[in-house]
Amino acid sequence: MKILLVEDEPLLVDNLTQRFKALGFIIDTASDGEQGLYLALEYQYDLIILDLGLPKLPGLVILEKLRQVNFSTPVLILSARNSWQERVQGLKKGADDYLGKPFHFEELLARIETLFKRHLPKGDAICFSPKHIAGLDSVCLDTESKSLFINQQSQSLTLTEYRLAYAFFSRPQQVYSKQVLLDKISESTEEKESNIIEVYIRRLRSYLGKEAILTQRGQGYRLTLADDDLVPAKANGGE
Ligand code: CA
Repeated sequence: MKILLVEDEPLLVDNLTQRFKALGFIIDTASDGEQGLYLALEYQYDLIILDLGLPKLPGLVILEKLRQVNFSTPVLILSARNSWQERVQGLKKGADDYLGKPFHFEELLARIETLFKRHLPKGDAICFSPKHIAGLDSVCLDTESKSLFINQQSQSLTLTEYRLAYAFFSRPQQVYSKQVLLDKISESTEEKESNIIEVYIRRLRSYLGKEAILTQRGQGYRLTLADDDLVPAKANGGE
């Protein structure tokens, strides 16, 4: 899930950015209203968290301008202006939800989850935000529903696909030989051909992109989704 946070309090921005990133979300930030409006219109986000008291352009004006152009991305207002009249005004201008400051992160998260119920992992999830694979912003493997969430869209997996994905996701730097992977996906009583691994690797690659699983000649396979630190970080949010 890709979130735009329009907020001018640096401490709150840092705190929220860290916590959302830890959950596998992509987060862009804007510290004034003009930048926020620009980013909201220029890029595709799944959610906008909008402060009201902002330099250059107030949050309610941003909201109005977005709704005028039939902007459909959910907007959650996060504001210290928290009287019922102010909340009603925000919701009438087109906000999808309104949370007053101060707030608990858990409540913010619960509200976001409600806005995205169908698109978030249900149980414990192992998440990555790969930047080196085009079109792939976030990938989570949900160990409860045993499905992948790719850019917050769910992709159900067969049991064998899930077992293979779990082996890779739970140890993202591990190079696995075909034989070890075969043991991971097979019941002990089952006989399986070793070329079955190639078949299932191809399937995972079809979901995640070819570069997501690296073939290391003579050694086996390795997930590359956690390799971001090896890739020069793109300028992000500080513009
Ligand atoms: Ca503010």
